[in-house]
Amino acid sequence: MENLNEFKALMATPKKVVVTTHFKPDADALGSSLGLAGYLKKKGHQVQVITPSDYPDFLAWMPGNESVLAFNPDNASIVNKSKSIIAEADIIFCLDFSSLSRIYDLTDPVKQATGVKVMIDHHLEPEDFAKFKQWDVTAASTAQLVYRLICEVGDQSVIDENIASCLYAGLMTDTGGFRHNNTRRDEFLIAADLVALGANPSHISKLVYETNSLERLRLMGFVLKDKLVVLPEYNTAYITITDEELKQYASQTGDTEGLVNYALSVKNIRMAALMYKRKHDVKLSFRSLDDFSVNEFARAHFEGGGHKNAAGGQSKLSLEETLQKFLALLPQYKEQLTRKN
Ligand code: 5GP
Ligand code: MN
Repeated sequence: MENLNEFKALMATPKKVVVTTHFKPDADALGSSLGLAGYLKKKGHQVQVITPSDYPDFLAWMPGNESVLAFNPDNASIVNKSKSIIAEADIIFCLDFSSLSRIYDLTDPVKQATGVKVMIDHHLEPEDFAKFKQWDVTAASTAQLVYRLICEVGDQSVIDENIASCLYAGLMTDTGGFRHNNTRRDEFLIAADLVALGANPSHISKLVYETNSLERLRLMGFVLKDKLVVLPEYNTAYITITDEELKQYASQTGDTEGLVNYALSVKNIRMAALMYKRKHDVKLSFRSLDDFSVNEFARAHFEGGGHKNAAGGQSKLSLEETLQKFLALLPQYKEQLTRKN
């Protein structure tokens, strides 16, 4: 962090703090938030984690989960409570996102809030809304940036098993279990530190990856058998899931996470897409290999963004129209998608 001394001075006395993260938090979003919140509480601050939506059950084991306020636009008391806590906060930490639209209904409350904003993130092309930034696109996860900040402040020894476990979960999942090309020496060194501080790799991996509901596995089976489409002429694979199909498999938040990686795992595939119906729009997930930038693709066509090889977006069109839009775009990317490296 550039203005670290100013940040340290700000944090030197107890503050009212809000920690928020992106819509439909994943393990890095929630793990970095709860890891930071655990640390800040130990330093004497009054902390509230507010997520813009619910999140998957397989994250509920994280220490601190019980005190998260998950925004829900249909629940007036949660709406009022969230808005007043945000308005009264001295400091608002924004974790694992850097464009304010990613917090949906919390965008305006956070924009209007007078509290000092601190952004901790690793996504490309951030908006400039925060006074303090711990921002590094080369970092695989936001969780490791939280770890680094705590160390920069000189508080590594404050990190206990609970905090280390939350941060480890974020680092583990955003590297795809230490397999993606964002996994560098740094990620292993920080993982090793977190293990030394109490994180248990096999236990956390079990909690995150191997606590599937039967419905989720059945949905996965159905999708792989009937919904995965491969377009060899574009080195592209995609999956669409309708709302009826999601209902048929009693799909819960998080059940579609990871499906897009199966599409990318098909031999010779360079870009993979997953599209499914949400309440008010269609959600898109993109993954790619090598130098094909799905960040640019999602930004240019689907109001999204993310990282070069993992990005997301949304569409207000129907699912079928969204698919047709996606397919119609492929010819203009054919050269990039099929070029020999
Ligand atoms: P996923 O496909 O798993 O939702 O997201 C892949 C990556 O892109 C994650 O790092 C996620 O935070 C980011 N991402 C997803 N949706 C959006 C979006 O609408 N805008 C931006 N800027 N990033 C996104
Ligand atoms: Mn992340």
